[in-house]
Amino acid sequence: MTSRLAEARAALQKTFGYDDFRPGQDEVIAAVLDGDDVFAVMPTGSGKSMTYQLPALVDDGLTVVVSPLIALMHDQVQQMHAFGIEAATLNSTVAEVTARETWRKIRARALRLLFVSPERLLMDGCMEALQSVGVRRLAVDEAHCVSQWGHDFRPEYREIARAREALGNVQTLALTATADAATRAEIAERLFPAGRPPKTFVHSFDRPNIRLTFQAKDNPTRQLERFLRNRRSESGIIYCSSRKRVEQLADTLKADGFNALPYHAGLDQGTRAKNQDTFLQEDGVVMTATIAFGMGINKPDVRYVCHADMPTNIEGYYQEIGRAGRDGLPSDTLTLYGLDDMALRRRQIDEKEIPDERRRVERRKLEAMIALCEGATCRRQSLLGYFGEASDPCGRCDLCRGGVPLIDGTVAAQKLLSAIVRTGQRFGAAYVCDVVHGKESEPIRRNGHAALKTFGVGADKPVAAWRALLRQLFAAGAVAENSDGYGGLVMTEKGEAILFGRETVQVRPDPEPKKAEPRSRRSSARTEDGAEGLNEADEALFQHLRGLRATIARGDGIAAFMVFPDRTLIEMARAKPVDLWALRSVHGVGERKRDAYGERFTDAIRDFLAEASGPGRSAPG
Ligand code: ADP
Ligand code: ZN
Repeated sequence: MTSRLAEARAALQKTFGYDDFRPGQDEVIAAVLDGDDVFAVMPTGSGKSMTYQLPALVDDGLTVVVSPLIALMHDQVQQMHAFGIEAATLNSTVAEVTARETWRKIRARALRLLFVSPERLLMDGCMEALQSVGVRRLAVDEAHCVSQWGHDFRPEYREIARAREALGNVQTLALTATADAATRAEIAERLFPAGRPPKTFVHSFDRPNIRLTFQAKDNPTRQLERFLRNRRSESGIIYCSSRKRVEQLADTLKADGFNALPYHAGLDQGTRAKNQDTFLQEDGVVMTATIAFGMGINKPDVRYVCHADMPTNIEGYYQEIGRAGRDGLPSDTLTLYGLDDMALRRRQIDEKEIPDERRRVERRKLEAMIALCEGATCRRQSLLGYFGEASDPCGRCDLCRGGVPLIDGTVAAQKLLSAIVRTGQRFGAAYVCDVVHGKESEPIRRNGHAALKTFGVGADKPVAAWRALLRQLFAAGAVAENSDGYGGLVMTEKGEAILFGRETVQVRPDPEPKKAEPRSRRSSARTEDGAEGLNEADEALFQHLRGLRATIARGDGIAAFMVFPDRTLIEMARAKPVDLWALRSVHGVGERKRDAYGERFTDAIRDFLAEASGPGRSAPG
């Protein structure tokens, strides 16, 4: 390790109380400390911010951090203060007096980190003032906002290069969690000087602490409630595809006693901000939201992310589930998907006013998403494979645990395809499955379809099994929607090959009737993994410390995790430090936090232990 990196590592321990770098952080930080321009693509939760925070601590001078998320800057500053790092923000929401004070500190060279919006950075006054004090380094967070191929294009980001030049082509560090190659190329081109390409790092997208589970929609609300049942004290997000669904689900969950809050772009600014704050600051809140929620959400202890509807594409899916478990502790996901989602998405893409080339890209992305849902091998393998990474089966996803053996589904598929063709390729999934199963519904009778040869050929299987199979045919491209916009299904060329026996098709066996998850499997995400498991007594202490943390957080008006993250409390519950010396070696206890909160926690642990050992045997002294 170079001496500069060793210095950074010492600061990591002393200031942040973390043992060591996370994988990949060290090489990025080493390059930054060497003075190189750096472009780092690292997954959410990998600790990207540390790659500018630590260099700002060990080098002199000011690091300017550009971020598109004004709402988060205040949080980031608070977090830095909690670690005892001098930081401030300038953006349109900062009061004039506060801004003046910040400028005073900048001129006195007392500030390490300045968080700014791109608009503010480019204002004349700001630019000139920064030029005169000198900027050591520019860090561009959420760098994919500069690219129109990314999913969050911000025109203001295009101007950052101008700022970089005006600051004398200052050393620049760009950070993003967006994987896609076109976006990456555009970032490299638009943020860095021509002819001076940055040192680029692309890190693994594997998030081993996040467990992936998919379920076909059956009764979505019930499926979500089953998932949430043992997670009342945990924070999580449920993404829905529409505002209406967000509201409905929040209401239902509230009625069931969950602390659920809605979030979507249709709510007024005040409500949105309030709900977001509650989610950030309190434990045990479930946010039901559209994907308007979450970009840059800096809450490390989100324990689960659900999708009540199928995600739009794998990039979006990855980013959304990536909001779980940034603290590295076991976290869960549940993704629900249905044929209706698939059909709706296809229609939306078809109807969008976009160039054909773009439409083809979106269609391909949708097909990949569907294939992931209907997949038959390890979810993580498929997901990482999509990002061009090879990996072993994870052993933890629904498919690894349940193991889906594939069977030959050609004959069953032929029954469905035949029903589609014989009913004239104009009916939707429900109708087709009823015909095959032999359900004499009113429309089927009216259309004379009860008399078809295919009517009832599949009476041996429940309708749900036919629907599951039809979804797989849809995913395999054997069936498509016709263009009338009413969800009628048609047979494709591939379907025809199956119907006439020129091709076979492998499918999953019929779905088992759903059983409730065994309750004993987990009482919380933390106890799920042996490595993080707490015994019953330690769990009680952990909950006790959580209570103390909540009290302190409320008193100081900051989020609970800013006091100490879960992992720190878990380690305290296990190691039971009763003095500040013992507390030193606990993860996440840096100097500033030890001084600020240490004693209250060691006192609480001592009291707890005394009480647990029973009356009359209380600890001496
Ligand atoms: P992201 O890559 O999503 O921007 P953050 O920078 O917000 O991730 O980091 C996520 C969390 O991980 C933060 O709470 C941060 O303090 C913590 N963290 C960062 N680096 C380390 C480390 N080396 N050891 C332990 N925790 C770390
Ligand atoms: Zn797996």
